[in-house]
Amino acid sequence: MYGCSVWASVLKTKAGTKKLRSFQRLISIAVTNSFKTASTESLLILSNLIPIDIRVLEIAVLRLLGDKNRPFSKRVAQILSKRFHPTDLLKSAVQPFSVHSSPVPPWDMRSNILRLSQDSFVGIGSFGKNTVRFYATFFRTKDRMGYCYGKTSYSGVVEDTNRADYSGWSEYKQVTHSAILRIFSQIKETRCSGHIEIFSDSKESFSWTNPRSKLSALEIEILTLFYPIKHRCTLFLCPKTSKVAGLELVKGLCALPTDSQVIRDTAPTLLTIKKDIHSSVLNLWNSEWLLSSTGTTTKRFFPTVTDALTLESRLMPSFLSQILTGHSLLNGHQFRLKFGSTSRCACGYADETVDHFLFHCTRFTSRRENFVTVSLNQTGVWPPPLSCIPAMPNLLSPTSHFITSTKRLARRTRTQ
Ligand SMILES: [Zn+2]
Repeated sequence: MYGCSVWASVLKTKAGTKKLRSFQRLISIAVTNSFKTASTESLLILSNLIPIDIRVLEIAVLRLLGDKNRPFSKRVAQILSKRFHPTDLLKSAVQPFSVHSSPVPPWDMRSNILRLSQDSFVGIGSFGKNTVRFYATFFRTKDRMGYCYGKTSYSGVVEDTNRADYSGWSEYKQVTHSAILRIFSQIKETRCSGHIEIFSDSKESFSWTNPRSKLSALEIEILTLFYPIKHRCTLFLCPKTSKVAGLELVKGLCALPTDSQVIRDTAPTLLTIKKDIHSSVLNLWNSEWLLSSTGTTTKRFFPTVTDALTLESRLMPSFLSQILTGHSLLNGHQFRLKFGSTSRCACGYADETVDHFLFHCTRFTSRRENFVTVSLNQTGVWPPPLSCIPAMPNLLSPTSHFITSTKRLARRTRTQ
């Protein structure tokens, strides 16, 4: 599906979506051996195929998170933010697209960075009344890494300092990013409303401002917090030789002997974020399934889309898909589609529906014995709710045995 976010624009219209799904429908009919009359919604559930338009959204969002430098067009971005509502974290990362028309992604924050000259001097208490400053520095020894940062107010008073040591991490970048993340979290928690200046002596710590870099999970979190306050935030990159009083101060902190406390951050990994996106995709599919007016019988077997994950194989015998879709050789269905002259069952007692055939028809009472026994053992009731049949692995197999033993659905036809 390379480049599929390009065709995300096809998904703008209902017709476009329908067109894409009709391809999938053909595959689904083949793997489930279903009748052609069954609804697309049911067929996709039975074959465990995520609707292709929803899958395209997933891939597009994953690309947004992970992949390099190809910007999204405004149009595609609008479609994404309109149809896809993942977790808050991603939501705020996605939303800016809908208002942004620049050729570079909205996380281009390079204009927020000021690079100090090598010999510049910044005192500790000479700035505006509504400004707070953060100074961040980092250290690396043989067996551990860490960061220190401090916060000063306009008067130069040190309000807060923080230090964290990491022994489990190997990536310096992660350490610098978690420091920046802590700073932005603190800004948010304390509802800091004035101007914010952040000084750092490591260019790694601001690498997330570059739209060409691949985003890590930490960077996404940073951007989520940074984006809303970027207009009042300035980042200062300080060469090692510059004299920034606040940085000297926190460097002193780094030199202090450490106590034994070692912090391991539990930042979300890219894997957890991917899982998150996937479950949002399943939710999207599921709400569509719940609202769809078709697939009534399938819905009784699979109330939610994930219920169908229990189906062992995508290749399904025809008798099973007939029962699971309700589109079958049973008279009830044949009559409904005007293929048969009556909906009555040959036993003469009732209409030949899925329920009648599976549970009640007297023509097959003796063949049903094992099915009844297992159902009573497994669910405690007879007949079992249809949703229990695929959900309980021990129940699906006697159901299948019963259906094949009756030979009632054995005729294979693709025309109905
Ligand atoms: Zn009957």
